Amino acid sequence: MSIIDKIINDSWRLNRVTVGKDTTATSRLVQQLAGGDVLDFPSGTECLTWVIPKDWEVLRGVILAPDGSRVADFVDNPLHVNAYSISFEGELELEELKEHLFTDPEHPDHIRYHFRWQYEFGEKTKWGFSIPHNRMLALEPGKYRVELVTRFSDGAMAVNDIIVPGALKDTVFISAHTCHPAMVNDGIACVAVAAELAMRLRERDGLRYTYRFIFGPEYFAGAAFLSRFGRGDLKYGIYLDMLGNSEPLCYAASFDSETRIDMAFRNVFRADHPDCREYPYREPWGNDEMFYDGPGFEIPTVCLNREPYEQYHLESDDPDHFNPARLDESLVVLERVIDIMETDITLSLKYSGPLYLNRFADRLYFDPDKSLDMYKSIQAIQILMDGTRSYLDIADELGIDFRLVRDFGSEIMKLGLAQEAGPPKT
Ligand SMILES: [Zn+2]
Repeated sequence: MSIIDKIINDSWRLNRVTVGKDTTATSRLVQQLAGGDVLDFPSGTECLTWVIPKDWEVLRGVILAPDGSRVADFVDNPLHVNAYSISFEGELELEELKEHLFTDPEHPDHIRYHFRWQYEFGEKTKWGFSIPHNRMLALEPGKYRVELVTRFSDGAMAVNDIIVPGALKDTVFISAHTCHPAMVNDGIACVAVAAELAMRLRERDGLRYTYRFIFGPEYFAGAAFLSRFGRGDLKYGIYLDMLGNSEPLCYAASFDSETRIDMAFRNVFRADHPDCREYPYREPWGNDEMFYDGPGFEIPTVCLNREPYEQYHLESDDPDHFNPARLDESLVVLERVIDIMETDITLSLKYSGPLYLNRFADRLYFDPDKSLDMYKSIQAIQILMDGTRSYLDIADELGIDFRLVRDFGSEIMKLGLAQEAGPPKT
């Protein structure tokens, strides 16, 4: 079984809240398969202005109808119990019970994830269950028995930290969240694909950048990581979300929006996914880039995503709505972006005037039927190869595929017609 399948199969159904044994188990599994460290951040630790929550566990979570049938049971789906609920045992009239039921009228047959209390500061005071809206409408008046036993304790939030070293200390980090109970695309599928990417990069010789993979509970992991290590050598970031569903790929720019990682994403999308959308910073959802590419750090971080995703935060974000081919496609995009970051160099030409292409026709013939872009751009590429612009700068300026510029550059290098102009731009 591949590392991707193993991580998803073994982890997706677990009750992966911000701090809990299932979330920690997920991080341990990732470590076992992909290496690196698991960092612990104890409950109560102040990280930037955030505080790591307590460990939360559900021992029992059942609602029994007046006739004894089960309205909801944590055993059937962890999403039934609202994350970070306090304990409650007792009997309630239907109208009282309804105050503790969370439903989604727009998706009346589904259970919606109730995440909010994990992010609320301070002592928890509330409890609740998520059930399908239609199930709530069908409940008969009468006395309902609630048996909700949860436990808060001092635990530790787990964060995976996997480093794949390159020649430079400058680091590109790739991040995804380990939290989100019983959901596939929102979180764990992205951890899985990034773990696979880490394995592939480790097998490559001569990496230019260092790569660092950071997986942990949403928001808190970003706060914790930055409070422990600061900006350090983190130079660029990529945040992954929702990548295994069947919707079109999209990406959100960094706050600056014109950095090299933005240019690399833009180039790959323009060449391979021209219909896909670019969103501004923090859209459509804000994830951990709000920390890394936020106040005091501003590490340019791009988010790769697939949306609109109909199953967002529903229990139907399950293996039936997981498309392995789409996850692979996301991996190809990431590898293409990394390939650009790794091979981008700046050349200066050793000749003047437009190159007598026909003289080197075996290497430099551009068939307009095969590559109109190259046929049209060859003059501009040569003008812009002035020792100040890299392949990526030129490709971005001309709106053409990075690979066209790089392939031309490497051919004229081989012919002794150009030389590298100083260290690569990073
Ligand atoms: Zn989410």
